[in-house]
Amino acid sequence: MTAKRCPLIAGNWKMNGLKKDGKALAQAIAKYMKKKKKKGKYPFDMLVCPPFTLLDAVSGALKGSAVMVGAQDCHINESGAHTGDISPKMLKDMGCDYVIVGHSERRADHKEGSALVKAKAEAALKVGLKVIVCIGETLAQRDAGRPLAVNRRLLRGSLPEGATAANTVIAYEPIWAIGTGRVATPDQAQEVHAAIRGALVRALGEKEAAKMRILYGGSMKPDNAKELMAREDVDGGLIGGASLKAKDFWEIAKSQA
Ligand code: PEP
Repeated sequence: MTAKRCPLIAGNWKMNGLKKDGKALAQAIAKYMKKKKKKGKYPFDMLVCPPFTLLDAVSGALKGSAVMVGAQDCHINESGAHTGDISPKMLKDMGCDYVIVGHSERRADHKEGSALVKAKAEAALKVGLKVIVCIGETLAQRDAGRPLAVNRRLLRGSLPEGATAANTVIAYEPIWAIGTGRVATPDQAQEVHAAIRGALVRALGEKEAAKMRILYGGSMKPDNAKELMAREDVDGGLIGGASLKAKDFWEIAKSQA
């Protein structure tokens, strides 16, 4: 299956950064991006996902730039008695374009299952946000020879109703590779990405599945990004640690150009 998909380079800042650092990091990325415009076009889409506390400052700093802003989670409701939670509508109001749902750290730390992840994604789509739906297997599941089955199951459970290639991105993030320095080989990544695309064909039909972006995440760095993103079904990256340094994040993005 071949389709031209614009790569997405997305930075997940996790619980890092104070106002001053966040603004400076966002501005540095916007500056790099500006230079990349050729004949009115950019070779990839660029997104940063700071913590909630920085969304206002970062979306202000990125106004007028080609770098989009996303959040790292949202609630399923629009408003109400949910102390400490943030609604998709509030994220939209903060200037967000995207929200990440189902990151493995939320699945583990907050016991979020696929049904909740799906509901969050649907709530986000309802207010016009785009979603990055994260899935990925544990090391035990990989060692048991089950990475494809596990990721197909996670995808089926987490994919929102109404998902299209325009509003939904899938991130394959093997849990054993996140923040560990241990990266999937390009072959391992491609194998799972191809299985995910196959599952998308069954869920959404051939045409939509061919257009939907599937990102790789897990210890992506400037020295391994090019090889990973060169694979047919790897349409960009969701980058944690390396997205906190503008130069490293940019080196990763550039390997797509
Ligand atoms: C992530 O948390 O989404 C991630 C991929 O982290 P890291 O790049 O640090 O492994």
